[in-house]
Amino acid sequence: MIPLLDLNLEYKMFKSEIEQSLYEVLKSGSFILGDKGKELERSIAEFIGTSHGIGLANGTDALLLSLEALGIGHNDEVITTTFSFFATAEVIARVGATPVFVDIDPVTYNMDPLLLENVITEKTKAIIVVHLFGQPADMDKILNISKCYNISVIEDTCQSIGATFGGKKVGSFGDTGCFSFFPTKNLGAYGDGGMVVTNKQYINEKICLLRNHGCEVRYIHNEIGTNSRLDELQAAILLFKLKMLNEWNLKRGKLASRYTHYLKPHLKTPVVACGRSHVFHQYCVELDDRDELALFLHKKQIATGIYYPVPLHLQEAFQYLKYKEGDFPVAEETSKRILALPMYPLMTKNQQDKVISSINEFMSGER
Ligand SMILES: *Cc1c(COP(=O)(O)O)cnc(C)c1O
Repeated sequence: MIPLLDLNLEYKMFKSEIEQSLYEVLKSGSFILGDKGKELERSIAEFIGTSHGIGLANGTDALLLSLEALGIGHNDEVITTTFSFFATAEVIARVGATPVFVDIDPVTYNMDPLLLENVITEKTKAIIVVHLFGQPADMDKILNISKCYNISVIEDTCQSIGATFGGKKVGSFGDTGCFSFFPTKNLGAYGDGGMVVTNKQYINEKICLLRNHGCEVRYIHNEIGTNSRLDELQAAILLFKLKMLNEWNLKRGKLASRYTHYLKPHLKTPVVACGRSHVFHQYCVELDDRDELALFLHKKQIATGIYYPVPLHLQEAFQYLKYKEGDFPVAEETSKRILALPMYPLMTKNQQDKVISSINEFMSGER
């Protein structure tokens, strides 16, 4: 079986280092908000190029607490893409604001900046821009518009740690950058984890308070917060894996180039837009008979994934927003055609060859 990604391989490869760093935490007796967490916050902030990093329980909370820190809530509108993981828009509703969707650019699958101005109103307070599959969105155009209308920008960088736009890392452009360390992400923990990065001191202070019950001095609570902290065991694993991130992102890039070289004649392969670097959290192709290809590969013991089968504006949970089929044709069309192929840094050439030859077999009609 060739899986979509294989987390066991990396553990086997670095078993002793990973177990050593876990053992250090166990010995220290410090499990929440300790030295490892602080070191990870410094390291990620430095890696991205921001002045602060705040470790959190997951990526969803990174988005949620960003909105809260920016004071966004009832009667506010937040613009985002209809083509993302549910959490991107869920958090907007969670703080009591209204998600306003825009369609995507068919080349990068990211929010089409040309559509932004159409949906800006007096109530628009922020844009949540997603760098989907590991490719940065068009930050020049998005920041131009946000400055012009004085709107905050939150970057959902959950799939794009290390990707660059104009040579600058994503997560350093907006008011906040929001990372997830869910095990399958490019930098994954062995459990849940997340982080906000920011250059703004007031956001840093606010999120540090919010993640810990609004509390700075023990049992003295300045405001209503929540419990959203990154634990020391996860931080220790992430500190170790962060050292490998650049190399592993490069490996993903090499695998992607190889896929594209062999598959481009047969189906739509990813395009890396000018001035951007792509970290290939997912490698997705597009074709008309997507479901048939997925079944064909499944029979050949090759796993595939569909990100995402239903755009956010058509999700039942967002029915109350009264969007309908046809509102965002590019995202709707893409959701019917897109297919993610196996992609992980330790994937072997042999495994990739099998995926490529199976797809070629399918495309040449020998099914
Ligand atoms: C994974 C992901 C999230 C949520 O992160 P969690 O850590 O699972 O809460 C949000 N947005 C996008 C685009 C993601 O891929």
